[in-house]
Amino acid sequence: MNYTPNCNTTNCSRDYTQNHNSHSNLLQEYPLTDLLIGGTEVNYLFICPTKLWYFSHGITMEGENEWVDLGRFLHERHYANEEKEVQIGSIKIDFIRKGELIEVHEIKLGKSMEKAHEMQTLYYLYYLKRLGTKAKAVLHYPKLNETKEITLEGREGEVEEAIHEVQRVKSLPTPPEPVKSKKCKKCAYYELCWV
Ligand code: SF4
Repeated sequence: MNYTPNCNTTNCSRDYTQNHNSHSNLLQEYPLTDLLIGGTEVNYLFICPTKLWYFSHGITMEGENEWVDLGRFLHERHYANEEKEVQIGSIKIDFIRKGELIEVHEIKLGKSMEKAHEMQTLYYLYYLKRLGTKAKAVLHYPKLNETKEITLEGREGEVEEAIHEVQRVKSLPTPPEPVKSKKCKKCAYYELCWV
């Protein structure tokens, strides 16, 4: 589904929940050219710049990877009652709950890529803030029965640095040289890098 936030901008009375087509108008009104990247791209930057480059150039091998299948299974099995995959502009959030504050929820398999998960989620909060919506986030690790709350406070500089770095890697004419690590074993691009 497409989710359209309320406009929280000072002196703005527009209620974007009344018209779900208004989101595209909102995007046109705000200079978001630096926000045309997806959350997965921010995530991949912190896993491996080579992976980010492949992914952002349309080379996707996720469909052939068993770890990705396991991730999909967890998404389906847990949180069955949540409305999943909320698309807002260039970001797609696992699910959203609406309370006093908008809550962004992301479901992850394990914590070995925790930094990447955190930066992806911070990017979502940053993105929503730029649209005038204050939000907080929760990372879910259902296999570990753990959750982690994330807030943007004091971390906007980190997100902006990550955005610039994603843009830099994407603009490279060829993929960054792969660096072998433990992450490669579970990576969908293993064969591309190492076989
Ligand atoms: S196999 Fe390793 S080096 Fe290649 S994209 Fe994946 S994580 Fe990066």
